Amino acid sequence: MTTLRLILGDQLNPLHSWLQERRSDVIYTLMEVRQETDYVVHHAQKVIAIFAAMRDFARALQEQGHRVDYLAIDDPRNTQSIPGNLDLLRAHYQAVQVQYQAPDEWRLDQQLADYAVAAPPVSMADTEHFLTARDEAQRIFAGRHQWLMEYFYRQMRVTHQVLVEKDKKPAGGQWNFDHDNRKPWRGDPPEPLDTRALHDHSALWETIVAAGVQSFGRPDAARIVWPLNRAEALGHLDAFIQHGLPHFGDYQDAMSSKASRLFHSLLSFALNTKMLHPREVIDEAQDAWRRGQAPLHSVEGFIRQILGWREYVRGVYWANMPGYQEHNVFGHTQALPSWFWDGKTRMNCLRHAIGQSLDDAHAHHIQRLMVIGNFALLAGLDPKLVHQWYLGVYVDAFEWVEMPNTIGMSQFADGGLLATKPYVSSAAYIDRMSDYCKGCHYDKKARLGDKACPYNALYWDFFERHAGRLSGNQRLGMVYKNLGRMDDEARAAFRLRATELRARLDQL
Ligand code: FAD
Ligand code: SF4
Repeated sequence: MTTLRLILGDQLNPLHSWLQERRSDVIYTLMEVRQETDYVVHHAQKVIAIFAAMRDFARALQEQGHRVDYLAIDDPRNTQSIPGNLDLLRAHYQAVQVQYQAPDEWRLDQQLADYAVAAPPVSMADTEHFLTARDEAQRIFAGRHQWLMEYFYRQMRVTHQVLVEKDKKPAGGQWNFDHDNRKPWRGDPPEPLDTRALHDHSALWETIVAAGVQSFGRPDAARIVWPLNRAEALGHLDAFIQHGLPHFGDYQDAMSSKASRLFHSLLSFALNTKMLHPREVIDEAQDAWRRGQAPLHSVEGFIRQILGWREYVRGVYWANMPGYQEHNVFGHTQALPSWFWDGKTRMNCLRHAIGQSLDDAHAHHIQRLMVIGNFALLAGLDPKLVHQWYLGVYVDAFEWVEMPNTIGMSQFADGGLLATKPYVSSAAYIDRMSDYCKGCHYDKKARLGDKACPYNALYWDFFERHAGRLSGNQRLGMVYKNLGRMDDEARAAFRLRATELRARLDQL
């Protein structure tokens, strides 16, 4: 009476209760399938890192005495679809039932739910990963028009007893230290050393290419830096807590052409593939504060990303699927400029942020939000195409976390469910938070003329074009006051320059 248990590529949690007993009547299967490599074009390092981590996980299970059938991308038996492979393995092992862990993407959830109806008995188990249930945010925000992350986050702090005192008051007397987290970085303190292990997966990369998988970005298969198992992820967490966390808060929003990682944790791949549990990451950070090794504003800022944003965007995703990716309140339809795929633009900030994304399959939050996403929204790029690019390019990109961040937070395409105002800026913000403008072909101060920074005219034109939707937003009062002070001639000049910029995005 054999049971077939499916483990998806982002379910690499060796502590899952399934794996705590060895059962001779259970076959575990992991599968590298074209279905998963092809739903968008992915960065080469993302495909390599996920496959390599899956292979490592399968090997470890076998070494622990579990029975595993691993379907590699070039396995002649591989049908390249999950249901097809389940049918195949079911027949081969004469399995009486199939079990799987709850997928985090709607696409897979739907596919496996359909499979369960078509080919019972099939049952779903919890991944035992998140701190909240799929529908918890929906319950917390029931009947509310706007879903404020801060409201959700404070509830999480109390429910999970994180950075709270006995009387349910926040540690340090404040729930949020965001105001202390906005320093630019001028080179001191130095960026911590990158202590991540390097893996050579050139042979795997050759197999992936030979299988016909399309990709973009620098493969760098001989130097894969992402943690490929829990032990490596724990080592990386430890290094971050010691060297990155103490400065995380101060420089959370900073950007630099000289340091791509700064004090960010780079833990998103390990978290999203479930090598690490969010609770253990939160606990490590909280303990560092209690031991006096990291200041409260850093620790709170870091924990807010995981206990707040990460759980919250997942709730937004499940409450709005299917169909969330279709939102486009501004009716933006512009195609992505060619430099999204090669980084070749004269705009220094975008050359760095996109170049880094293509080289490393990673960019940190402010680069994603205030450089790339900011430009995409100002230029009127189609939010669905922007979403597909983000979903492909980042090593940590899985739809449940990427889509709300892109469609909601970054492109405001949902009309403001998640963000209270669009995250856009002119060159002034980018200049304040980075050194990008210093080496740029464009002039950060100029608003008009060939050398004027494109963000400037696009910024004013964006607010003018969308005044009908945005001018009533209280948080944008100052913007519309300044726009109102401009004469018709100045507004027409911005409009003309922005139209001209949008007509030749490829050449910027
Ligand atoms: P750190 O800055 O060290 O933060 C610590 C952890 O907090 C991260 O590892 C992550 O797990 C969590 N976190 C931080 N910000 C967010 C957030 N806004 N939403 C959810 N979790 C967060 N994050 C992803 O994990 N996958 C994505 O596909 C993704 N797409 C994004 C798309 C856009 C347009 C934007 C603006 C943000 C996106 N983010 C995404 C959030 C954030 O940029 C990344 O989590 C972060 O850059 C990962 O690097 P890090 O591990 O060094 O993060
Ligand atoms: Fe970016 Fe404009 Fe600054 Fe150049 S001047 S780096 S385009 S913000």
